[in-house]
Amino acid sequence: MTQANYLWTPPPVYSLPVRGSDARLPVARIFCVGRNYHAHAVEMGAPVDKAAARPFYFTKSVSTLVESGATVAYPPGTENYHYEMELVVAIGKPGFRVSEGDAPSLIYGYAAGLDMTRRDLQLVARDKGRPWDLGKDFEQSAVCSEIVPSNAVLAEGAISLAVNGETKQSSDLSMLIWNIPEIIADLSQFYHLQPGDLIYTGTPEGVGAVTPGDRITGRIDGVGEVALTIGKPE
Ligand code: MN
Repeated sequence: MTQANYLWTPPPVYSLPVRGSDARLPVARIFCVGRNYHAHAVEMGAPVDKAAARPFYFTKSVSTLVESGATVAYPPGTENYHYEMELVVAIGKPGFRVSEGDAPSLIYGYAAGLDMTRRDLQLVARDKGRPWDLGKDFEQSAVCSEIVPSNAVLAEGAISLAVNGETKQSSDLSMLIWNIPEIIADLSQFYHLQPGDLIYTGTPEGVGAVTPGDRITGRIDGVGEVALTIGKPE
């Protein structure tokens, strides 16, 4: 194979540790489900009628990935920087137009994640019918724990988040509007899912703002914990 002659060093491979393994999981893409807990959809002013709606998605660049435990600078351009605690599904096998029945076979494992959001910019975009990128797809906005290998379908389990030790979000995976097989099957109607794709499955109610010096800790029973410290703005 000919060695490519690049103008500059190509971007790194983004990856996450895997519990019980020396190998790291190389991340391909980051998909996020919008409004997947009723109480959060209501707090955002956009209730969901599952019978009449389908899930919707946005994406974050893989370069937004940050490992749990990091300290990130308070991001530019926002005055309302929010946490969203989420279960993350890691895809381990290719799949296109898979059924709900086949969807679990695509799962490599799970993680605890934070879909960090510039809420003011997201809401301006939403209300003007513009893309959400400025609100969602920004540097260091996809925080993720180690991956826990398992292709069990997680149907229940407490999911919670605290800021400086004070609980802000507390729900259960059983409250997901679209469950894990439904999300994977639906997303695979639109994309050829591939190993290393991550799916952030949506946040429960209780989202809110953080400021420099705050420490976020999140937990999902049976999966693990995620942590993030907010640093000063650059
Ligand atoms: Mn989210």
